[in-house]
Amino acid sequence: MRTNILVIGGSPAGIVATLTSKQANKEVTVARRGKFVVVPCGIPYIFGTLRSVEKDRIPDEVLTKNNVNLVIDVVVDVDLKDEVARLRCDDNISFEKPVLAIGSNPSISPIGGVDLENVFLVYKDPEHLSEILKAINECERIG
Ligand SMILES: Cc1cc2nc3c(=O)[nH]c(=O)nc-3n(C[C@H](O)[C@H](O)[C@H](O)COP(=O)(O)OP(=O)(O)OC[C@H]3O[C@@H](n4cnc5c(N)ncnc54)[C@H](O)[C@@H]3O)c2cc1C
Repeated sequence: MRTNILVIGGSPAGIVATLTSKQANKEVTVARRGKFVVVPCGIPYIFGTLRSVEKDRIPDEVLTKNNVNLVIDVVVDVDLKDEVARLRCDDNISFEKPVLAIGSNPSISPIGGVDLENVFLVYKDPEHLSEILKAINECERIG
């Protein structure tokens, strides 16, 4: 596959980069990890009013209705010289310009108890958030 712009990561930064590139009439491919992405600011509401990870999703239509190629996989290597990215499934995507929008993960502070069961870091990953919601639903007392 060859594309003008390869955006790696499909969360807020990736979506903005994609829509900006489309305004310049570029062919854009988004490669992102995960079946869907969540609205980050909505994460606390998953455990409160929403009680569901699915209800906090950013619809893929934001991309697909703008004629963007969406690839669900992890990019494991970007070769800037040969202008090609390799996916975990071993496929390659050639690009003219890459955009790294791979975001961040929480860092683990050296606080006692951080490694105990039912102490969670908040990754913006639907499967991980589902595990937290399940643990909250199953516990009798928090705090
Ligand atoms: C609980 C919580 C609440 C927040 N509330 C707010 C708020 O109210 N207002 C606000 O402005 N900000 C808020 N933030 C901050 C906000 O989440 C971040 O600023 C924003 O998500 C950054 O977007 P991003 O696209 O740069 O990165 P991320 O959201 O981290 O997304 C990066 C994406 O790239 C994907 N990715 C990473 N590596 C690869 C790879 N190798 N191949 C393919 N895909 C890859 C990831 O799976 C992820 O989907 C909150 C954050 C949290 C955790």
